[in-house]
Amino acid sequence: MSTPVTSAEDVFPGARIPASDPRYSTMVLGFNPRWVGSPRYVQLCGDTDQVVKAVTEALAEGLRITVRGGGHCYENFVSGNEGGVIIDLSPMNGVYRDPQSGLYCVEGGATLWNVYSELYRIFGVTLPGGSCYSVGAGGHVTGGGYGLLSRKHGLTIDYLHSVEVVCVNARGETQAITVARDSSDPDERRLLWAHLGGGGGNFGIVTRFWFSDLPQAPSVAYLWNEAFDWSEVEHDDFVTLMTNYGEFFEANSAVNSPYAGLFTLLHLPQKSSDTQIVLTMQYVGDEPSRLKEFGQEVAHAMPDAKAQIAPVGYHHPTASSLEVRELSWLWATQQLNGCTPNQRGKYKSSYMVKAFPHNQIEAIWRHLAEPSFHNPHSLLQVDSYGCQVNAVASNETAIPQRSSVMKLQFQAYWDEPSEDEANLSWIRGFYEDKEMYGPRGPVPDGTMDGCYVNYPDVDLPDWQHLYYQEGYPLLQIVKQRWDPLNVFNHQQSIELPS
Ligand SMILES: Cc1cc2nc3c(=O)[nH]c(=O)nc-3n(C[C@H](O)[C@H](O)[C@H](O)COP(=O)(O)OP(=O)(O)OC[C@H]3O[C@@H](n4cnc5c(N)ncnc54)[C@H](O)[C@@H]3O)c2cc1C
Repeated sequence: MSTPVTSAEDVFPGARIPASDPRYSTMVLGFNPRWVGSPRYVQLCGDTDQVVKAVTEALAEGLRITVRGGGHCYENFVSGNEGGVIIDLSPMNGVYRDPQSGLYCVEGGATLWNVYSELYRIFGVTLPGGSCYSVGAGGHVTGGGYGLLSRKHGLTIDYLHSVEVVCVNARGETQAITVARDSSDPDERRLLWAHLGGGGGNFGIVTRFWFSDLPQAPSVAYLWNEAFDWSEVEHDDFVTLMTNYGEFFEANSAVNSPYAGLFTLLHLPQKSSDTQIVLTMQYVGDEPSRLKEFGQEVAHAMPDAKAQIAPVGYHHPTASSLEVRELSWLWATQQLNGCTPNQRGKYKSSYMVKAFPHNQIEAIWRHLAEPSFHNPHSLLQVDSYGCQVNAVASNETAIPQRSSVMKLQFQAYWDEPSEDEANLSWIRGFYEDKEMYGPRGPVPDGTMDGCYVNYPDVDLPDWQHLYYQEGYPLLQIVKQRWDPLNVFNHQQSIELPS
């Protein structure tokens, strides 16, 4: 595979940031301010050769390595590297097309905004990735990345053709290798498979992702928000909303559903006098009337909709949202950007194959409307899922969840370290309520289908099964072959076979 022509002057020469450097205190932070690292140094890399050199030097000094793409990890897998080296790929943010192979290249430190804006403006194509555009492709794609175009176009990894990855062999030698879906060596094909949702920080450092057959980017998107003042929502209205929402997606998430162009986010913050339940809806395609059909069907029992007054979770209000608006798709993507000011946070997730069982709706009501600890910035977000995501067989990628119709994200946000315990205990109490998932989590049972590796949660008891299900042993074989010394490790990295 040929590489693009870049003159030597274009390449960032690399920089080592030790504790004495004024940038150090910033460069050791995660997006989540709970993660403050104390590595020996942060190594900024500008190209693959520099990554190889950085890994070689760290190993020679006996230092543990962690890898940072965009720094948005929900757990402390990157900054949590006391006395080690954080290899930071942010200068490697190029997005381009290889003229010979026709493949699209995204460098390992690119943000989603680099990806969307470059792919759209230069080539008119896109990746169906996440809504927050400061998220890095490095963690996002390796974990399977999904977003508002996923019902229409699937997951980001469904377009991943090959990766260039810096690995360390059993002799401790560092090398960059490019592996593709159609590599002749089965070990190489398995390494590529492991990058189709096996999670970041496990096998090596991805310096370039190569994508093929990217979908054409939409020209326009239709956006609609309905916000309901929580104080006006009664218990029975809530039960109807949750039942309708779940049943709608259970019925309308088949591959080729006429609603595949619809993606929705239902934000359910804790109830208070100034919070709102917000239904954010995007439609791309030829039948924008689907948007109103959906909103009216799902929310018909709710009180009158109002304009959205404040961000919910990491989603800002979209201006004048009471009516359906037609926007340039790239602008709509910018508007829906899910990045609010950085706050301390804790997250949990679950996949749903079917509508909510009644006991779960009652538990959701209790923990939001009658919370054990009151914080109006905490919420449950229910994203639509399915359609084209489910066109791929479960074992084709390391992400096995290919029959779900909704994805849930439990979120708690706060500012002060003194509030950690109360917030953590609220979100844990909600998730582990025996009417939600109990202590074992959302074990695949025909209604629930485990958890999303890109929303990692160190509280999970059996994370190997909840993230990867039957694919975990194969990920361990890949680990044994490509990272036999377990150089790349964190609290939930793939374990070597015992
Ligand atoms: C505000 C916000 C919004 C989000 N929205 C979405 C969404 O809409 N859809 C969705 O699917 N997810 C979403 N996520 C989750 C996001 O996809 C993950 O947090 C992702 O792992 C972040 O990647 P990163 O490179 O920014 O993070 P990092 O903290 O840099 O890395 C995350 C993990 O990946 C590893 N890693 C990073 N780069 C590389 C690399 N180049 N090679 C190998 N390993 C690497 C790290 O070591 C770490 O283990 C969101 C997260 C946040 C904070």
